[in-house]
Amino acid sequence: MTPMFAKHTLSALRQKLMNRELSPIELTQEYARRMQELNPELNALISWDTERALQAAAQADVNLPLGGLPIAIKDNICCLGEPARCASHMLENYVAPYDATAISKLRAAGALPFGRTNMDEFAMGSAGENSAFGVTRNPADENRVPGGSSSGSAAAVAAGMIPAALGSDTGGSVRQPASHCGVVGLKPTYGRISRYGLVAFASSLDQIGTLTTCVEDAALLLQFLCGHDVMDSTSSLQPVPDFASELHRGVRGIRIGLPKEYVSSGNAPEVQDALNAAVAVLEAQGAEICEISLPHAEAAVASYYIIACAEASSNLARYDGVRYGYRAAETSDAPGDLYARSRTEGFGEEVKRRIILGTYVLSGGYYDAYYTRAQKVRALVARDFSQAFERGVQLILGPVAPTPAPKLQAKDMTPLQIYLADIYTVPANLAGLPAISVPTPQSGLPVGVQLLAPHFEEARLLQGAAALESAWS
Ligand code: GLN
Repeated sequence: MTPMFAKHTLSALRQKLMNRELSPIELTQEYARRMQELNPELNALISWDTERALQAAAQADVNLPLGGLPIAIKDNICCLGEPARCASHMLENYVAPYDATAISKLRAAGALPFGRTNMDEFAMGSAGENSAFGVTRNPADENRVPGGSSSGSAAAVAAGMIPAALGSDTGGSVRQPASHCGVVGLKPTYGRISRYGLVAFASSLDQIGTLTTCVEDAALLLQFLCGHDVMDSTSSLQPVPDFASELHRGVRGIRIGLPKEYVSSGNAPEVQDALNAAVAVLEAQGAEICEISLPHAEAAVASYYIIACAEASSNLARYDGVRYGYRAAETSDAPGDLYARSRTEGFGEEVKRRIILGTYVLSGGYYDAYYTRAQKVRALVARDFSQAFERGVQLILGPVAPTPAPKLQAKDMTPLQIYLADIYTVPANLAGLPAISVPTPQSGLPVGVQLLAPHFEEARLLQGAAALESAWS
């Protein structure tokens, strides 16, 4: 790393841009160079267009709050004129004809979207190994996965190929790869950031989030991403506070709940150590840690996979080779066969597994047995959290994943084993809560810890995360 870039936080880079120590063009050139150098090894980016990025950099206004800062974008978020393939053959020729609202907001603040990050196909996965464009490697150990599904976003930020990236989190896909790669991953409250232009996986769970090298950068990006959008009826009308102003207030007097269900013998020793270290740091800074219970925690994964697959089967019905997506070679077959062949050839294994599962749980004979029950369990999971918050807990602390990053070929695990590892991340999506993964100091593989907050309390969430980070940096 050249000294100029030793600390590639957005705020440090912004300072250099404003002081004219660095121009947006030089910054873009440097990141393009790093992408060129590191991507063959890591495969964190599916594509990037340096010429286009340099043209944008030439126009950048460094007086804007994110002026001239490059941000990589997960391949399921639309950027006008760029491919948005969701790492799927199904969309391999798709070029987005519009900007997602999150992207227009970033551009309005001066940021420069640069690079499409690799991901699990249609955001379905936990390792980055379900991509039609090949696996992404973890920069901390290239024989390991970076986590998923925002695998490329986390790996690119961790490797310094980009200072920050957008991801999407339906059941943990921002927080879990952040934990495995050693970066900060923030999933805001459901509805905080417009989903317009985010390719839908499970619409009632999907939320755009950020991957950054520090908590302050997460707050900075969130500030510009939030807000109501007429293009997304589920986007929130809640006012957007100044996230940075509360950031360094500390945690003195704050009550933090530690769910007893999360202190499990199933956690790897590194994960348990990270959790203990977080408890010690927060207590030392004056927070009160108290044990709480989330009695339905165990049922969250089952509920999540039924709901996520049901919604996916409906959302992905549009890719039939006629209205959208890859089309199989024409034959004289009946139209039904064209649909079937296009979907068979266009989608990967995991996506097909979920479409079939989702179609099954929504079918006439099984709807009540599976889908309706899963929705009831979802309500119970959400109630566990609201009861904890009503009893005076202001934040909840927990692990992000039961283990550090697994070795490549996690695919050898059964789908059920892989799904169960989402136990600590899916509850926030089922309940719509904001949550963040913060890296802990490690001599070995990166491991994050997670904080969760009540709806729309991102300011307090970031405050807690900043307290952890300050003790560890
Ligand atoms: N691992 C979870 C899944 O496979 C989460 C995915 C996500 O958040 N996009 O569904």
